This record gives sequence, structure tokens and C-alpha cells, in this order.
Amino acid sequence: LINDILDLSKVEAGRMEVERIDCEPHRIVREVVKVLGVRARDKGIGLEFSADGPVPAVIQSDPSRLRQIVTNLVGNAIKFTEHGAVRVVIRAAGSVAVPRYEIDVIDSGIGIAADKLDGIFEAFVQADSSVTRRFGGTGLGLAISRRFARALGGDIVVRSEPGVGSTFAVMLDAGPLAGVKLLRPAEACELDVDVADEEQARWDFPSARILVVDDGAENRELVRLVLEENGLTVDEAENGQIAVDKAVATRYDVILMDMSMPVMDGYTATRTLRQKGHKTPIFALTAHAMAGFEKEVLAAGCTGYVTKPIDIDVLLGALAEKLGGKRVHGEPVARRPAAPQSAAPKSAAPVKPAPVAIAQRAETAPRASDAPVLSSYANQERMWSILGRFAARLDEQLAAMDQTYAALDFPALASLAHWLKGAGGTVGYHAFTDPARTLEDCAKAGDGPGAGAALRELHHLAGRLVVPGEKQAATAAA
Ligand code: ADP
Repeated sequence: LINDILDLSKVEAGRMEVERIDCEPHRIVREVVKVLGVRARDKGIGLEFSADGPVPAVIQSDPSRLRQIVTNLVGNAIKFTEHGAVRVVIRAAGSVAVPRYEIDVIDSGIGIAADKLDGIFEAFVQADSSVTRRFGGTGLGLAISRRFARALGGDIVVRSEPGVGSTFAVMLDAGPLAGVKLLRPAEACELDVDVADEEQARWDFPSARILVVDDGAENRELVRLVLEENGLTVDEAENGQIAVDKAVATRYDVILMDMSMPVMDGYTATRTLRQKGHKTPIFALTAHAMAGFEKEVLAAGCTGYVTKPIDIDVLLGALAEKLGGKRVHGEPVARRPAAPQSAAPKSAAPVKPAPVAIAQRAETAPRASDAPVLSSYANQERMWSILGRFAARLDEQLAAMDQTYAALDFPALASLAHWLKGAGGTVGYHAFTDPARTLEDCAKAGDGPGAGAALRELHHLAGRLVVPGEKQAATAAA
């Protein structure tokens, strides 16, 4: 609730920042559909995804806000539907001069009375108070979603008939689309084939040894997992000094170097290695992809850089270029129904190929109205163990934050918040980044109330964290 209110008050104060960057709505919808598919299946209703004609592959919008909107609407649709199905339909709309993108969320649920339709977009309004008793909820989801949609040059409108169902239509300004590829409906919406493709796209690297230098254990672990999966050998160092020592003792084919680290930072480590005559390619890993930054890392002797949170494909692409790796696609057929999942020993071969064994954490009775906090890696089964480890670590770190907060130990609190600011996004839980940054800032400034609010927001997010593949564990716990 606090999280929603903070979001809303930012929106009302006009401080809502929305981005206009490359954004692939069909992918976002597909991910939400896959993840929430579990809830629909648990309720015995369908969840379908289709496109009404060709859609642009990319628009200019705000991916995380869009994900929030779609998650809210699809979550509501499932919540208020007992029979039939929820359908999500995407389409290109508008004109060549003013291109738009539309997403309809259509359900066959309880519907909304005509005199209540306007009110539901107001904060804290619910169509029917008995609904709250039955379904829970805060009455904030739609208020926030509509404000986001409006900030993105669009709107959300609703049509509904009690007892028949509702359609929530999201319209977005798509931004200029000249030169953007159009996807056929099958390409945009094919859940299974694409998952297979995405998950099984692998790089074929010659044998090579990589040194991963980062003070964040999650970062190192993430990178190690991905690189090892692609046949590379990985060593780790947690600061620049250890990196220099290791690089002097062992020949590495590439060094991945975080720039800001305790003891010795990446700039110094890189300069030191270059002074010692080391020619090994060194890629800077950094959160600061700001103007002028590129010059700085190159001046220190880096070969190039990869921005954090790390995009796995970008990282592998950069390594492939240096090491002579080739992209190879696994056979998508391996993921088709009935075929055994060779790459996924953890789950018994499911009837549906999409890996969607999702469980709510830390909630014995999940409040269906609260938007789940999802990792952008939720659909990649190879990431699940890392997401689980992050979740466990998060619990510990939040407990430590509570303690330092209670003890008014602001420096310690700031450093815990700093960890979360980087670690959450690294494993695709981007929702933590902003509140963790706020917490770090407040702790540094000695702003107790501010830190307390940010900490509560983080707890609220953590309570809604969804870890794929934890279903059995969570059910057993509940
Ligand atoms: P809540 O957290 O209560 O779900 P929302 O702002 O998301 O808050 O929704 C406000 C109200 O709108 C809900 O309480 C419900 O009465 C109504 N509503 C939203 N979506 C639907 C839907 N798909 N079908 C029926 N009623 C809905």
C-alpha cells in the first residue's frame, strides 16, 4: 500500500518520471502473460495472448511503467474472473503521422456496473465494497495505471457489462516508427517457440579464461553462471588489487572490470595492468554510461565497456567479438510439448513448455491485488537459482537494514542500501533500484523519516517478490 501511495503521490506531484526509450510491448505483454499464467491456471481460467494484425517490434515508451500497467490490468482481470478466459490483444493504431499502440485486456468476469465505471480510476475507489472483502485490494492500481498511460501520451478506457465481463483498453503514443520492423501476429505472440529460442540461444566460444572483477557477489555470480553456461572458464576477484594479483599470476583472455570498488578501483587496476605491459582486453562494467564516461574508461586503458545492470546478450556479444565466439541457436523443437527438457533438470517435463512455476513469497495468503514484483529474467529458467539466492540474501539484508535503522547506524544502512541498489537490477528486479537509491541517499543525509519510508517501501516490494520455480517450497511453507 505504501508503495502504491508513494507512486501515486509522485504522480500527483507531477514528479513521475517516465522514459521514452526503445520498448518492445509485445515482449512485455508476453512476459506478464507467462508469469501470471500460473494464477490463471490455478483458477482454472484461460489466459490468451494475440495480435490484431502486424505490430511494430519497437516503440518509444517506458518499459517498466508499461510492465506495471499490464501487470495491474491482467492481474485485475484474473482476480475478477471465475469462468472463461482473459485475453490480451495488442494492435497498431493511430496514423502514420501519429502512430499509437493499443493493448486490450478482455475478461469474462464479474463486470462493473455502469454508474461505477468512472469512479474506478479514482484513488482508493473500488466498484463494490463487498469486492474488497472477497478479493482484497487497495483501489490504487487503476489510478496509477491510468496516470502512467497518460504520462506516456495515452490513456486507459474501460467498457464493461456486469456478469459478462470487462475490457480495459490501454492506448499509448508509439513515438516515431519510421524504419521499425513490423512483426506478424504469430511472431509477436508465439509464446512457446520464442521461449525456446530465447532460452536456447547459445554462444559457441573457443576455450577461454575470463576474470570477473566486481565487489558485488551477485554480479560475479550472475556473470559466472552465464559465462560458464557458454563454455567459458571463470575466475573471480572482489576488488582491483586482487584482480591485479590474479592477472599477474594467470593469463586471462578477457577481464571484466567493475569500476567502483573498495580497496582498489577499476581505473587504478586497469592502469596498473597496462603499466605492467598487460595487453589483455579489459571491459569496464559500469552503471555510469554517461557522456564523457567512455573517454574516461578508454583513457584508463579499457578496451570497451558494458553497462550495468548487465544485459547478458550485450555482454556475450562483446566477448564473442574479442574471443571469436559464434551465436548458435539450439533447436527450438526441444522445447515443444512432449519433448523432454534436456536443459532443465529441475522441472519435470511439463505439458506446457513455458516455465511458469511461480510462487508468491512471504505471503501465506497471497493478496491477489498487489502487483507481483517480477524479475525480467523470470522466463529464463537458467536464472531461477540465482533469483532464489537473491531472494534469500534480500531477506537477510533487509533484516540487517532494520537493525541498522533501529540503531541509527546510517553509514551501515547506506552501504546495505547501496548493495540493493545494484544487486536488485542485476538480477532483473528493477523495482528495487529507485527505493534503494532513496534509502541510500536518505541514510547518507541522516534523514531518518525518509530512510524509514524507503525501507518500508522495500519491505513491501520484498513481500511481493516472485521467485520462479519456488512453488513447491512456498506451498509447503504455507
Ligand atoms: P484494487 O487494488 O482494488 O484492485 P484497482 O484500482 O486495480 O484496485 O481497481 C479498482 C476497482 O475496479 C476494483 O476494486 C474493482 O472493483 C474494479 N475492477 C478493476 N478491474 C476489474 C475487472 N477486470 N473486473 C471487474 N472489476 C474490476
